[in-house]
Amino acid sequence: MEGLVHVHDEPYDVAMNSPFYDVAIIGAGIAGVSCALSAADHGLRVVLIEKQKHGAPRARPDWVSARSLAMLADRKVDVKPVVGEPFGGATFHSSDLSQHADTSESEPPAFRVDYTGLVQHLSGDVRSKGVTLLHGTEPETIACGETSVRLTWADREPIEAGFLVQADGAHPSPTAASGEPGAWVAELQLNGLEGPSPHQLHWILGLDEGRTVASWWWEGTLAVIRSSGFGSPDAVRRRLVGCVKQAMEERWLRGQAKIVPENVALRPAPARHALEMDSHVDKRALRIGDAGGFVSRATREGIEPAIRSAFLAAETLSEAAENRTPQDALQKFDVSWRTGMAEDLGSPSAQVPFMLPLIFKNSQMAQRLAATFWYGRQP
Ligand SMILES: Cc1cc2nc3c(=O)[nH]c(=O)nc-3n(C[C@H](O)[C@H](O)[C@H](O)COP(=O)(O)OP(=O)(O)OC[C@H]3O[C@@H](n4cnc5c(N)ncnc54)[C@H](O)[C@@H]3O)c2cc1C
Repeated sequence: MEGLVHVHDEPYDVAMNSPFYDVAIIGAGIAGVSCALSAADHGLRVVLIEKQKHGAPRARPDWVSARSLAMLADRKVDVKPVVGEPFGGATFHSSDLSQHADTSESEPPAFRVDYTGLVQHLSGDVRSKGVTLLHGTEPETIACGETSVRLTWADREPIEAGFLVQADGAHPSPTAASGEPGAWVAELQLNGLEGPSPHQLHWILGLDEGRTVASWWWEGTLAVIRSSGFGSPDAVRRRLVGCVKQAMEERWLRGQAKIVPENVALRPAPARHALEMDSHVDKRALRIGDAGGFVSRATREGIEPAIRSAFLAAETLSEAAENRTPQDALQKFDVSWRTGMAEDLGSPSAQVPFMLPLIFKNSQMAQRLAATFWYGRQP
């Protein structure tokens, strides 16, 4: 299996005195904690292993779809303490920002959220459901046998589990699989700017022949401006700076701010290769979240696909744990996520170039595109 420390596909003797769990989950980001939560609800004994001492470490302003929050609420998670202001809708802009189209939804389609706060909040729920959380550690080896998985450490007892879930986050983009060399997410956070439609999530369409998507929104007084696209780090930084300057010229962003490429934070875009992967299942293991390439093609964000893949994985694990042929039962994950998620991950890009001129003239077209961004529907 890719990405984990060492995975040996060889037999070993099950040690009688090792702690035994139904499921070991590697990575306590949103995918790992969601999977742990749901697996515990299914009555499975779960150990959740996170290499960072205090859990997923990124404190940052993010946004999350209302659908994600509804999925968590369905599992009795009270998300109110960690969820911020709602968005009213999407505003689409042409690449030169000279045209725009406002859309609105009857219910807020998404909310501001502090990702770390959300993950920590869920970790509390997970703990209260009896899940064992190991923070600040990672296994040295992971060996998949025929009947169980063994995780070993240099400085602690091994752990045995019936199944392994790989939720260890984004892997460097496997260019051959995703066809996306040099994909980056660039971000600028600027204080002291103002602008119209502060309750909207703004999207700039058609940049770089449609290969780059940029967005901005306000988090209190902070303007968060992002783009994800391709090219050298310098080119990607300059492109974002260009967008911001253009937005200031067109008065979408107003005020004084230092806008220089050096202040642009850059991270490799997670590979969006879920649909291209042959399988997300190995003998006794599943991949979910960013590790499985579950990233929205429209928005290029990943919190919702992480939660959805995690819940589907937990269902599969619960069936596999009861099954006489667990390895066969595990294979059903490939079917369940393709049935439940493929549409959300599919690219709207084939239609969008044709829709672009119409989006700024025809409000129904804009609304249809908004449904793609918020709800993953094809336009
Ligand atoms: C700066 C930034 C901004 C973003 N903004 C948004 C946004 O606004 N909206 C949105 O929907 N998405 C956003 N995303 C994407 C979203 O955060 C990810 O898609 C989502 O976090 C994926 O969750 P995950 O659990 O799969 O991975 P992660 O959140 O990356 O969690 C993986 C965890 O695994 C741990 N880990 C890794 N290797 C090991 C190991 N060997 N042993 C133990 N633990 C390990 C890591 O420490 C980490 O805590 C953003 C991403 C970044 C980086």
